[in-house]
Amino acid sequence: MTLPRVTVLSLGGTISSTGEGGVKPTLSGADLVADVPEIADVAKVSARSFRQVPSGELILGDLVELAREIRSEVGAGASGVLVTQGTDTIEETAFALDLLLDLAEPVVVTGAMRNPTLPGADGPANLLASVQVATSRSARDLGVLVVLNDEAHAARFVRKTHTQSPATFRSEPSGPVGWVAEGLFRLAQRPVGRRTVSVPGNADAPVALYTAALGDDGRVLDELPRLGYRGLVVEALGGGHVAEKVADRLEKLAREMPVVLASRTGSGEVLRNTYGFAGSEIDLIGRGLIPAGTLDGPKARLLLSLLLRSGADRKSICAVFEKPYVEE
Ligand code: ASP
Repeated sequence: MTLPRVTVLSLGGTISSTGEGGVKPTLSGADLVADVPEIADVAKVSARSFRQVPSGELILGDLVELAREIRSEVGAGASGVLVTQGTDTIEETAFALDLLLDLAEPVVVTGAMRNPTLPGADGPANLLASVQVATSRSARDLGVLVVLNDEAHAARFVRKTHTQSPATFRSEPSGPVGWVAEGLFRLAQRPVGRRTVSVPGNADAPVALYTAALGDDGRVLDELPRLGYRGLVVEALGGGHVAEKVADRLEKLAREMPVVLASRTGSGEVLRNTYGFAGSEIDLIGRGLIPAGTLDGPKARLLLSLLLRSGADRKSICAVFEKPYVEE
């Protein structure tokens, strides 16, 4: 029987760490795979290190490059591609790749919460489950997936929700798209409304992320144009609300750059048409803010950054944010 070919691209993080002098990413992609002999029964794997960093060091330019690499691996015959990295920014890597890639072949991002020096280290199990998902026909055409703790999550909804738990990854409000049982991927639901952004070059377009908080007047916002930011995502209170003083500042900024309105709650859609006070979502949308739909702050920031890199104008940016990842 010929086994499917899977490429593993390793970026670092706890999954590739050793514990001397504090846990640091030191193992190569090949070391990782060699540690899990069961993988050889599922796929013919070639592994290499793309980066070797804690995941907070990654930048969007790395992911644009990574997307190119994944495309060329699939072009060269890989049935699926696995990305391993630190869990801190997995939700962002996965969502950026989801936007940058338009592939039928499964692309899975995984990592580990417990490093190899701890009892119950989850890296080897996550790696094996990810290869099992990446080689499954049912995982095709789902967009990029995050696989940890035997669950598979769609990139567009998944978030890291706990600092230490191996069950840290959750998809609100939809739940995982499937799971791995007895070595097989089980697909339970298919995400709708995939979107992609084509980014011709790799020029930076910095987008700031600001979280509203009780009593803060948002004075930091005034500095953004001077600092070179090209866009802003606001994680507003509740359904999409800020204090009136902050709303005045956002209105001014929205005349200079796209300002996207997300919620700091981390789940649910931002409102469009419920509250009418100064600083409410109706007021802010009227002042030129663009509602983020189902996207949380970090994901809306990635989408806006990639749209700006693609050269999209305000009208097309609004049109893209108009379509949330749901069907009516
Ligand atoms: N600090 C690590 C990182 O994100 C944590 C992890 O690997 O899970 O790189």
